[in-house]
Amino acid sequence: LAKQEGRNTYRFHTKALSIAANERLALETRLRHALIANEFILHYQPLIDARSNRIAGVEALVRWQPVDGEMVPPAKFIPITEETGLIVPLGEWILRTACNQARAWMDAGLPPLVMAVNLSVRQFQSENMVSMVRRVLADTGLPAEYLELELTETMFIERGEQSIATLKALKNLGVCLAIDDFGTGYSSLAYLKRFPIDKLKIDQSFVRDLAEDPNDREIAATIIAMARGLKLEVLAEGVETEQQLSFLQQHGCDYYQGYLFHRPAPPAQLDKWLRDKLLPKYQSVPN
Ligand code: C2E
Ligand code: MG
Ligand code: MG
Ligand code: MG
Repeated sequence: LAKQEGRNTYRFHTKALSIAANERLALETRLRHALIANEFILHYQPLIDARSNRIAGVEALVRWQPVDGEMVPPAKFIPITEETGLIVPLGEWILRTACNQARAWMDAGLPPLVMAVNLSVRQFQSENMVSMVRRVLADTGLPAEYLELELTETMFIERGEQSIATLKALKNLGVCLAIDDFGTGYSSLAYLKRFPIDKLKIDQSFVRDLAEDPNDREIAATIIAMARGLKLEVLAEGVETEQQLSFLQQHGCDYYQGYLFHRPAPPAQLDKWLRDKLLPKYQSVPN
């Protein structure tokens, strides 16, 4: 009897596992198809310069829009594309699309805007990453100084020396390097003095409760002060309220990003917004 029960348990277990495996496989197949069928789209969210209160650039944020389904946020599919390696071709598509958009805005006569693009660990560690970035810049004609690559601390935990080499090669292309979600990576701070980093993006988890949580205020103020000491730029993510903004302003944060200013928006919507805001208005003819 025990033997039989054991066998049943085993059978039940493998069945549950194979359902999960099948669902995953199906999703993987759909994602592969999505790349070919052009179902991904980039939304863009403005980055605001604290000093001038003007838009300094945008961050590209990928979404999956299946033809016959609801929009899927990146948290739902980026991890799977990471595991399967699909992030490498998807990541190249993202970079190319973002650089093309930035170049198009330049050509439309808008003032220079930085285009910030997220990189994933797998992408960062892939062998041809640097040559891929170089090629995309050349193909799209976007000057390297207008491209900002967002990295995360966890990318540097393993393969420290390899990471430095990659970062230096990227810097040599002329792009900017930012640390995304800063403060959440459980990584040593030592890399900050050895790696050619330009900007820290304070993770939104420290910004969210600034009004209520004295610890978050301390952490945010400390990151801003440290960035200034290290001559790095600093941006606060997830700014939603005037209260958060005024605290960050008092402490000298360089850039803001968040719903208070603008939500991530599809290209056409942001395009209109940018042109309305930044292009000189037609002079109305006096009558
Ligand atoms: P992230 O790079 O830290 O991007 C910022 C996230 O915060 C975005 O979520 C954005 O929509 C959201 N956000 C912006 N302002 C506010 C605010 O005021 N309040 C709140 N609560 N949220 C705000 P999203 O677009 O869902 O992206 C989530 C994460 O997925 C990103 O975090 C990034 O790690 C990853 N991701 C997005 N696009 C890409 C991509 O093109 N490539 C890669 N590798 N990862 C991406
Ligand atoms: Mg980011
Ligand atoms: Mg991120
Ligand atoms: Mg972030």
